[in-house]
Amino acid sequence: MKRFQLMALPYAPEALEPVISRETISFHHGKHLAAYVNNLNGLLEGSPFMELPLEMIVKQADGGILNNAGQILNHELYFEQFSGKPQKSAPTGKLAEAIDKQFGSYEAFKDEFQKKGATLFGSGWVWLSADADGNLFITQEANAANPVQKDLTPLLTFDVWEHAYYLDYQNRRPDHLAALWQIVDWNIIEKRYE
Ligand code: MN
Repeated sequence: MKRFQLMALPYAPEALEPVISRETISFHHGKHLAAYVNNLNGLLEGSPFMELPLEMIVKQADGGILNNAGQILNHELYFEQFSGKPQKSAPTGKLAEAIDKQFGSYEAFKDEFQKKGATLFGSGWVWLSADADGNLFITQEANAANPVQKDLTPLLTFDVWEHAYYLDYQNRRPDHLAALWQIVDWNIIEKRYE
């Protein structure tokens, strides 16, 4: 039985150009994420995690099941947060207030987030997440880790695995991270924060 399916992208593969090319999206979604889904389905056969929701698997599993489940959760949050035509290009309301309170300003938040993404050694993800009181955190998570493992709610993430940018930006990870703000749909991030 196939427990998980490859998510459908909420946009056409070329919709995020020129920030992320059609080619990168096609490989990233159609090859990398698809492989994590196939791997996890195979590993779950006969395992005690077979019936658990994805987030619970990420919180409880280890080894290959954790790595593949984590990468599925991470990539679903990643692909869903982007739009070629974002409804909202900067945070507003309660999230904007929390960002100002925690980081000083939206610009200061972006600098800090990009810096944490640029300096993450090896493969991983940079995250904005929230605790139960609405306090915000920027964290670097290695490999397939996700803030839900720390009981935080993930809000925004940039993938800094080389497969996310190498075709378009080669070694220029900071340039890729700086460009991603253009396609973040803050409407979606605000819904995650509510
Ligand atoms: Mn990736």
